[in-house]
Amino acid sequence: MIITLLGTGDAVGTPKIGCSCPACLDAHAGGKSRRLRFSVLVESPAGRILIDTSPDLRWQLLKRGISHVDGVIWTHSHYDHYAGFGDFHRIQSGVNVYGLKNTLDYILNYLSFMKPVRHDVYPYSTFDLIDLGFMLVEVSHPPLEESAGVIIMNGRRKVVITGDTTLDIPEKSLELMSRPDLLIADAIIPPRGKVAKHMNSRDAMELASLLDARNVVLTHLSHNFPPHDEAVKEWPLGYDGMEFGF
Ligand SMILES: [Zn+2]
Ligand SMILES: [Zn+2]
Ligand SMILES: [Zn+2]
Repeated sequence: MIITLLGTGDAVGTPKIGCSCPACLDAHAGGKSRRLRFSVLVESPAGRILIDTSPDLRWQLLKRGISHVDGVIWTHSHYDHYAGFGDFHRIQSGVNVYGLKNTLDYILNYLSFMKPVRHDVYPYSTFDLIDLGFMLVEVSHPPLEESAGVIIMNGRRKVVITGDTTLDIPEKSLELMSRPDLLIADAIIPPRGKVAKHMNSRDAMELASLLDARNVVLTHLSHNFPPHDEAVKEWPLGYDGMEFGF
């Protein structure tokens, strides 16, 4: 399977509108600090699945020449994770969409002008798509009551996407997430501060060592990091278009 980080930005993206901090200036100049909002592409010889549909989805699909997906998995019901689904309008109809119940209720209400095919998923149960195994596990993204991480299995290879979460992840989820070949972890800011809804980069690295991750990449990054080429010396930050093969 091939995993591509289509968007590694937080909800506002980088550059942030109206900001001229060093990361935003690097983004305006076309540097790797330029970050679209969150989507991950999962591909196997049997097809392709999107994890979340960024408000920037249109450009993400255009850039990669993608006009068809075999399914969409939504991790939670925040704008920066689903709003781009409308970009499938008149491009692809009847898209199979997967998620936890309240997440689907919320998003499908917002997207009531679309007619995707709903598939309710229960946490901790495996479902197969494009010859890969997927599982949604509960994470913690207050005040939202429901937010999921995603485990992707290709035989013995395992990739874990934390989704939006604090470090306060339920024990049952941590057990299932353990020993991934790759951990794609939410890390919205450097460890200058705590945020109530997300991990900072130190939290994310702590999670990686707790899970005994073989490799870790940080995503959902805000403009509060230094410009990418500088920040990456200290933290394993992802960038838009970054690919991993398993
Ligand atoms: Zn988010
Ligand atoms: Zn900025
Ligand atoms: Zn969120």
